[in-house]
Amino acid sequence: MNKSTNNRNPFKIYCDLFGHNYEVSKKITSHVKEYTCKCCKKELTTNSNGNLIELTPKYKEINNLLEDFYNRRMMYLKNKTFVHQLTNY
Ligand SMILES: [Zn+2]
Repeated sequence: MNKSTNNRNPFKIYCDLFGHNYEVSKKITSHVKEYTCKCCKKELTTNSNGNLIELTPKYKEINNLLEDFYNRRMMYLKNKTFVHQLTNY
């Protein structure tokens, strides 16, 4: 068999043949997550339509803002629930 002369990442070839092996690398919100391929380290994220797209620096920035916003909101909701529980007793 002819040895390939190109220097493509063997993991990339594996991904091309069998598909990427994504795992969640970061949870932004309950709907938006970042994924990284375990083989070739390609990164994806969920966009506002719920589709998977390539994680570009621009989307990383958006996700950081989104994560910050989401965490603040969760914190607010948690505090609200806590107060609510207290008033029930
Ligand atoms: Zn891959």
